[in-house]
Order: sequence, then C-alpha cells, then structure tokens
Amino acid sequence: MPHSPLARENCDVRTVFVEPTFESWRLQARRLLQEGAVPAEVFFQTEGTEQNFFPGLFENVTTPASLDSSASTLPKLRVPADFIALAETVADHRDERKWDLLYRVLWRITHGEPHLLSMAIDSDMRELLTMEKGVRFDSHKMKAFVRFKKIEVQAGSGITDHYVAWHCPDHPIVRRVAPFFERRFRSMNWTILTPDHSVTWNGQELVYGPGVPISQAPKADDLEALWLTYYKSTFNPARIKLKTMTKEMPTRHWRTLPETRAIQDLLRESPERLLKMFQDQPRSASEFFPKLPEGEKATLEDLRKAAAGCRACGICEKATQTIFGEGPPDAQIVLVGEQPGDQEDLEGRPFIGPAGELLNRALRDAGLNRPGLYLTNAVKHFKWTPPSDPELTSRKRIHQRPSASEIAICKPWLSAELSLLRPKVLICLGVTAGQSVLGKTVKLGEERGRFHETAWTAHTFLTTHPSAILRMMDPDLKKAEYARFVSELKTATSVLQSPSPQISA
Ligand code: SF4
Repeated sequence: MPHSPLARENCDVRTVFVEPTFESWRLQARRLLQEGAVPAEVFFQTEGTEQNFFPGLFENVTTPASLDSSASTLPKLRVPADFIALAETVADHRDERKWDLLYRVLWRITHGEPHLLSMAIDSDMRELLTMEKGVRFDSHKMKAFVRFKKIEVQAGSGITDHYVAWHCPDHPIVRRVAPFFERRFRSMNWTILTPDHSVTWNGQELVYGPGVPISQAPKADDLEALWLTYYKSTFNPARIKLKTMTKEMPTRHWRTLPETRAIQDLLRESPERLLKMFQDQPRSASEFFPKLPEGEKATLEDLRKAAAGCRACGICEKATQTIFGEGPPDAQIVLVGEQPGDQEDLEGRPFIGPAGELLNRALRDAGLNRPGLYLTNAVKHFKWTPPSDPELTSRKRIHQRPSASEIAICKPWLSAELSLLRPKVLICLGVTAGQSVLGKTVKLGEERGRFHETAWTAHTFLTTHPSAILRMMDPDLKKAEYARFVSELKTATSVLQSPSPQISA
C-alpha cells in the first residue's frame, strides 16, 4: 500500500524526517520516546522521498538530527537486543512504512508490552517479520547472483583490472551486503552498481556512492565470456528444472547473468549432452588434484586451491564455494564433519554456523583448544534443496545429506588431507564422516564411543555430529546427549596422554 497521509488528516501529526539509515531513525525515535510522542502523532519520512499530497497539512516538521552532535546527550533506551537486530534489518526495506511500524513496536515494547517480540501473531510483529524476511532473502540473492565483469582501467601510468557488477536488488541493501564481498574478494578491486547505491572496494576500504542506471552498466567483456564458458562446462541437463530455477533465480536477475543467455541453446543440446555427460562424467575428485611436476608433493594449500575448482559431482552446482579444511598442518587432532552448512557455504569456513558454535562449546568443555585442531568435512560443498513450502520456514536452503556415491567421489580430498596431516587422533562427527573415513556403512548407535583402526591412525574415533544434538527437541535428552558428546571428545583425546586405547576390530 502506498504511504498516504490521508489516514492522519484529523490528527495533530508531526512529520519527522530521517536519513535512510537505522542510526538516524534510532536517534529520532529516542528523542520522540523521551518526549512521550505517541505513534499516532508521528509520521516518519525518509529525507528525499517527500510526498506532500496536501501542502500545509504537515507543517510541524522535524528534520534529521545530527548523529554526532546530539546522540550522546540523549538518555539510552533499554530495549531487547533482538529488537535492535530486527530493526537494523528492517531499516533496509524499501517500504517507507517501516519507520512508523518500527516506532509503533518500539513504543509498545517500552509501554507495557515487553514480550511483544515473541508474539508472532500480532499484526505489527507479523508485518515487521515479513519485512525482515524480505531483506534477508534479498541479501542472500545478491550474494548468490552478483557476477563481476573485468574491465581495464587507467591507474597511474599503467592499466589495471577492475571488476564491475550490476545488480538490481528489491531493497537498498548495498551497505548490508558489501562487507560479504569485501571478505570474499579482498584481493581484487571491484565495484557493485545498483540503482540505489554503488560500492567500490579499492583494496583498502569500501567506498559508497550514488546509484547508477542500468544503461551505464559495463558491456560484455572478457570476464563475461569466461563465465559463460565456465557455466557451459558445468551445465547439467539431467538436473535442470526450469520451475525451480525461476523460483531460485528470479527472472528479473536473468538479464544480468550471462549464463542465462546460454540456457536455451544448452537445453536444445540436452539429449546429446546428457549422453556425453554420462560417458564423460568424472567419478572421482582426484581428477581435479593439482598437477605438479613429478616427485613434487602437494601441500594442504595446493589441495585447497585445487579443490576450489572441483566439479567432480553435482553438489557444487548449487553451492557458493568449496569449503576446505582449516587448522594447523601439524595438528595432532583432526575432526571430520559431514559437509558445510548454509552459513559456512556463504562465509567460506568450516564449522562457523550453529553446529560450529555448539562444537566450540563442547570443545571448550572437553578442555580442547579449537585453534590447535584441524577441522574438515567429508564432502566439501553444501548440498541443499529449497523448502517444499516456503511459508512454513524462514530458511530458504534446506540441508540435504550427501549420497553414498557423492561421499565416495569427494573422498580423495579428505584422504589427501589426512595423508598429509597424519593425525594422532581422528574424530568422525556423525555417520557421513564415519562412512567416509571407515569406508563402510556406519551404525552410530553401535559404533560410537570406540576407537577404530584406519589407514591414517589407530585412534580413529566415532561420535555424534553437533547438528544432531541441535535438532533434538526434548531439553532433557538434548542435555544428556551434549554431556555424552563432551565425554566422548574427552575419551577420544585421552590417548594423547595414554598410549594404549581400546581398538575395535
Ligand atoms: S562435493 Fe566434493 S567431489 Fe563434489 S564437487 Fe564438491 S569438492 Fe568436488
């Protein structure tokens, strides 16, 4: 619904202008709360979006407060941290009603409804959560669908490469998402252009600028051709589902993705490609191992770089990046999980999502120091599927367990890591890790908590995966399983003090 002042025409309404940032709104909201301004008397408007349908109706106007000058003089509000996080996200929504809505919810929380945030059926909360979901989803799409094109720019007396991408998000989310690209592409100079804002990484800092119309976006270039070739080489006609693809990659993004221009051609070629693919399909990740001069042995770093380009199985098609193991090359203890999760896939590191947090806690409780351990996964890409009913879950990517053949195809990476590491203790977290390391189907209930002998160490140990504990609904069972997990971590690593563990046949 467009924002209209009509509903307020009988009220003594004050228009409060804010800059388009959470900080600016927060400052004004604190002021208004301090003055006791009830939500019905206030109309927030982002500066530069004025729609004065009825000149003179809103003469009582407050301009944006200077953040520097006055923020410190206002008393601090005590509101739940969850509200701040929610408000920071909603502030990036395009709908101008967000400011009024946020103020209304803030007012209610601070005026007798401290538990409002947990009332998902409340109409204000519902609207706020829908906006939050929209911004999160849009941010995820931007992370997944931005494609850079290489252009050459003059730098001093020489020419240097600069990477440019055009993207058209639903919401003004450039500042929200830019730090993700900074972490991922620190070594390149790049610019992302959107209709709202632009951002440039110059190797030292993020520099924000105004939006740019699509007519000024860079034309086709080397990088585009490269991307097209890459996409053609990874296109899998056996898996293409146009309906799912349209859902996951909204058609408005297609014009900026070079690979979508190839789809029709590729689909026409599908029967032949399918046959060829069946004949040609790599059956092992080892086909992507680094090619080194004879006699030279690959290091963990060589393996990590090579694994980044692995396309041996289909999982990589929907994943963002390869997540290789992490930790010191002389680690005595290695932990192997199943596969990276949603957060790991986006951030590029293993065990940093909710399961990773639980693992960190368990490691601490078991007296272990995570930085001294090497953590990796049996499968190096995130396998996921969209939810069957998106209304029932806020998660857009549902974890899928890798198949036995995918575990086998990916195993050379794990074997190569373990052969270099030669750990004293090798801990398999869950059945997938156990299956990969032990080379057989594993029954966790029967085989956990004991040592097994493998090619890498006699002290190979099987326990549960932290995500299995997270999924447990019963709090008592969850607590007991966590305690068992910590106890098993202690048992597994006790061999570092005692040289003769019980080995199972
Ligand atoms: S999951 Fe493993 S085998 Fe499959 S593409 Fe990724 S790294 Fe390669």
